[in-house]
Amino acid sequence: MKKITDLDIENKKTLIRCDFNVPIKDGQIVDDTRIVGALKTINYCLEHNAKIILLSHLGRIKEEADLAKNNLAPVAKRLSELLNREVHFINATRGPELENAINNMQPQDIILMQNTRYEDLDGKKESSNDPELGKYWASLGDVYINDAFGTIHRAHASNVGIASNLVGKSAFGFLIEKELTALSILDNPERPFIVVLGGAKVADKIGVIENLVTKADKILIGGGMAFTFLKAQGFNIGSSLLDAENIAFCTKILNDYADKIVLPVDVAVSNTFTNDENYRTKDITMLSNDEMGLDIGPKTLDLFESHLKTAASVIWNGPLGVYEFDKYKENTNKLLQFVVDNNIKTILGGGDIVAAASTANLKDKVYHASTGGGATLEYLEGKKLPGIEAIK
Ligand code: AMP
Repeated sequence: MKKITDLDIENKKTLIRCDFNVPIKDGQIVDDTRIVGALKTINYCLEHNAKIILLSHLGRIKEEADLAKNNLAPVAKRLSELLNREVHFINATRGPELENAINNMQPQDIILMQNTRYEDLDGKKESSNDPELGKYWASLGDVYINDAFGTIHRAHASNVGIASNLVGKSAFGFLIEKELTALSILDNPERPFIVVLGGAKVADKIGVIENLVTKADKILIGGGMAFTFLKAQGFNIGSSLLDAENIAFCTKILNDYADKIVLPVDVAVSNTFTNDENYRTKDITMLSNDEMGLDIGPKTLDLFESHLKTAASVIWNGPLGVYEFDKYKENTNKLLQFVVDNNIKTILGGGDIVAAASTANLKDKVYHASTGGGATLEYLEGKKLPGIEAIK
């Protein structure tokens, strides 16, 4: 992995692709976590006297009306407060104002240019990795650092485009380095290596299952997804979530990896998909036609804990129940608490499980919570990610 610490940035015009895709309402930043997350890389560049040129996307730009609400100016202001120094915002993604400002930079100066996706208004130049745009942005700097993990599974001009025009002068920032170091657990996992999978549909996780089932010692399956596996085993799953098109896939996985797959033995059931009705806990053999499983049950929790207790490393993707409803988040939270209390090296792989851990105040207590969403999922699918390959 090519790291920021491998690059000579002293006095260099250093382009940094950040992830400043923060929620903004009425011009106010609602949550600045991502800006705070970028500080380590920016501070390192300040300490090494770089000339810092920041790029980021914000939201999606499809038409003129999207421009104003996705203006990066509030980010420059917040970043400036956090760093306690000037961040010069340039309301352009190209042209003389930007070029002159860059040419006049002193070491430790910071420029943030306008939202890279403003270029999408003209033929999706940023999002389709327009060759001219990547080359142009690369020409503005001497070296390039990519620190935006959330878009690393996409080939955009501001990541792949710039990196492929600054070959040998590009590296990952600290945020991406941390993500990749944690996720590289998959290359050579400490064993027993256990995967926990939950979430809604089998269809969304086929790539993840196919990739991880070959690497894991056990896969513990909960969430809505478990019911298609249980159906494939011949159980009556009542009105639980069923992904009928993928029963055959589940049957195949169960046949090929019988010794690896662990499914729920009991579930919390209700007659309605709401938080209002009281639930009952039932063994998986006992569901009637009008009952749906909305969380794993206590025996399943014990079963999952007994496996996890033995684990040297764990990857967990997807909640084990409908965690949006207070009643059905209970066992996801208990299992999260279990891995934290027992110091089990656990990586939460993206999206909903990270959100669940965050609400339970456990996100910062696990070994690593991977924040990449789609990027994390594609990594878990074993795909080569363009933003990584461009720098590698
Ligand atoms: P995913 O994005 O695939 O990780 O799915 C997360 C979603 O799965 C959440 O919105 C949960 O509500 C949902 N989910 C988890 N367990 C169940 C279940 N037993 N039945 C229906 N949906 C579920």
